[in-house]
Amino acid sequence: MKFTTFFRYLWAFPNTSIGLLLLIPSLVSGGRARSVSGVLEITGSFAAWVLQRISFRGPVAALTLGHVVLGVDEETLEWWRSHELIHVRQYEQWGLFFIPAYLFSSLAARLKGKDSYLDNRFEAEAFSLQRSVKS
Ligand SMILES: [Zn+2]
Repeated sequence: MKFTTFFRYLWAFPNTSIGLLLLIPSLVSGGRARSVSGVLEITGSFAAWVLQRISFRGPVAALTLGHVVLGVDEETLEWWRSHELIHVRQYEQWGLFFIPAYLFSSLAARLKGKDSYLDNRFEAEAFSLQRSVKS
């Protein structure tokens, strides 16, 4: 593993560790986990239960936490993979600061009368780049 790769995983690890906390309950409840492009994807009823409780604006189908992506099911992860990979790259750039920066961007958009999700700079970047990234 190259040093830069190691550092990217290390820098994102505080966020990844939150995602890893969800791994065991997901597997115990019959969910699945697999590594895709260096990212651990977790699906199953527990992951779906967690995602149902996180609501920015309607149901959340997938969520990235560092190098962990939660999804309601495999089909959903397939659909959102390129989008979530952009978020993985954002975590690698921002590390510990990603979640506060993400929330701040949503708040800033809302204060400007814009959409807190679609006008969040991290979401706007993910939606604009998602199709150009290969998983
Ligand atoms: Zn997104």
